[in-house]
Amino acid sequence: MSTAELRDYLTNYRGPKIRIMEVCGTHTHEIFRQGIRRFLSPDIELISGPGCPVCVTPVDYIDEAIYLALERHATITSFGDLVRVPGRCSSLQKARAEGAKVKVVYSPLDSEKYAREHPDEQVVFLSVGFETTTPSDVIAVKNAIKDGIDNFSILTANKTMPGAYEAMASSTDAFLYPGHVHAITGTDICEDLVKRGVSGVIAGFTGDELLTALAITVRKFGEGEPFFVNAYPRVVTAEGSPAARALVDKFMQPCDAEWRGIGVIPGSGVELRPEYSDYDARKKFGIPSLGGEYKTACRCGDVLQGKIKPTDCPLYGKACNPDHPVGACMVSDEGACSAFYTYGGSL
Ligand code: SF4
Repeated sequence: MSTAELRDYLTNYRGPKIRIMEVCGTHTHEIFRQGIRRFLSPDIELISGPGCPVCVTPVDYIDEAIYLALERHATITSFGDLVRVPGRCSSLQKARAEGAKVKVVYSPLDSEKYAREHPDEQVVFLSVGFETTTPSDVIAVKNAIKDGIDNFSILTANKTMPGAYEAMASSTDAFLYPGHVHAITGTDICEDLVKRGVSGVIAGFTGDELLTALAITVRKFGEGEPFFVNAYPRVVTAEGSPAARALVDKFMQPCDAEWRGIGVIPGSGVELRPEYSDYDARKKFGIPSLGGEYKTACRCGDVLQGKIKPTDCPLYGKACNPDHPVGACMVSDEGACSAFYTYGGSL
């Protein structure tokens, strides 16, 4: 179908009503940027899921990073968004204003390089993200081992998507699966899910790829049976990337992981294997339990599970905006609250 035909189909579709969760923050952002929500039929509802790595990073993790920076005088290296995410009482940005060394880097390899060039500093990289970014975190550790760098470590909060799909399955009629994740994992996960009644379509990232994936989702939903379609075959193959998976498996093992506002999802994370604990900041520095009461009116957890729209949060656009984010979903460009705010809050 042409772009115009896809648009017409999605505009003129009438019943049954369908809720589609775009799991990936990049999809959320691109759907807004392309204005897709504006012309969708009222019978098609898009909800944003937990696929923005910054948004799902829990407060405990931010507190651990702040502890390392302020109490252990480590140099924290991180992608920029994470620096602004609030922990219980502070953020890395505020810690930096108090004298902590917090550096923004563009990759874990930049962090490892910085450690090599600054042997007098203990350098910690904040390792967050999904299947797409974990291999580069592992390569940084591998390089540090190879180069004999002993002042580099990573603080892991890496997550894997299958557990999130399971946890979110009851919130949606079908998933728009993130193409880049499945370029690594392959399609077995989706094939297994459809056998358990969970439907979804793997989508690419251009406007036409998103429209095609949405149209397939709506059409297949109308057939009344669970379905799975790979609508991004130019990138996603059945086997994915065995080399990337083998690399991660060598260095990392599955673990339970906490998702901000959602809670612990069993087996939904990865951490360094014990034999690499010299590069695991949590073990290297013996970070104590920093838990404590966390009171917030932020409803990121409900947003990330598709239970409410960002505009339903009482803080949205008032106390919480991109200049003064109260929650992680307003910090990252990939966050649903930020996307709503930037591209049109009433959608
Ligand atoms: S608008 Fe702000 S406070 Fe409300 S859920 Fe989103 S990030 Fe949290």
